[in-house]
Amino acid sequence: LSNKRRPIIIANWKLNGTTAFVSDLLDGITEQWFGVHQAEVVVCPAFIHLAQAVNEHLAHSNVALGAQDCSQFEEGAYTGDVSAEMLHDIGCQYVIVGHSERRRFYSESDAQVAKKFDLVHQSMMTPILCVGETQEQREAGKTLDVIKRQVGAALDYCGVEKLARSVVAYEPLWAVGTGVTATPDQAQEVHAFIRELLGPVGQAVRIVYGGSVKANNAETLFAEPDIDGALVGGAALKADDFIEICKAA
Ligand code: PGA
Repeated sequence: LSNKRRPIIIANWKLNGTTAFVSDLLDGITEQWFGVHQAEVVVCPAFIHLAQAVNEHLAHSNVALGAQDCSQFEEGAYTGDVSAEMLHDIGCQYVIVGHSERRRFYSESDAQVAKKFDLVHQSMMTPILCVGETQEQREAGKTLDVIKRQVGAALDYCGVEKLARSVVAYEPLWAVGTGVTATPDQAQEVHAFIRELLGPVGQAVRIVYGGSVKANNAETLFAEPDIDGALVGGAALKADDFIEICKAA
């Protein structure tokens, strides 16, 4: 962790929860996360729970709201979609774009992710751009090429000024939801590379790590100079575990 960049811990709840579950989890988080803390904390519930999160829990807390995805379109005949503008209107400050599960299960391309990234900015929110290589790509020595292509797509489409006002999440696919965490060295190498890709503005950009972050491995990851926090899936579904990670930042 650098002392120049404020750490950020983001909870990605994915396809989980009922209204009751979300209430309990948010109560648990907001009860333990008040006053002044070093890290910024963001929770990303499913679309359908966003309004509940704002209205019942987050309006007077210091926990920010994010969405897990948004449409690549602004408005119109796109059945089932939720636009960046709608997310802003309901109270979101962050939107995850390009999560590996979107890329994998919905075949999202770099170009689509770049469009979403841009729309999130246009709607005055901060995108959390996810990038990461597969196990196969890592073994073939292609990790940095993949990261360069994925970050490059957003850079080319939106320009470096917008990247400067974003969060980047390095999430190696082999570590997401597998229980296998990248070692601090492996993560640090890629984080430093991403920062370098961004040039001079890179120093100000928060780059978080995601992939089986837990209370017991967060601290060693955060000890690396270019790891500015975490994007947390499984361990974010229990308030106590999640708060432990937030405190480690
Ligand atoms: P995980 O998920 O913490 O369960 O590995 C991280 C993510 O997908 O953002």
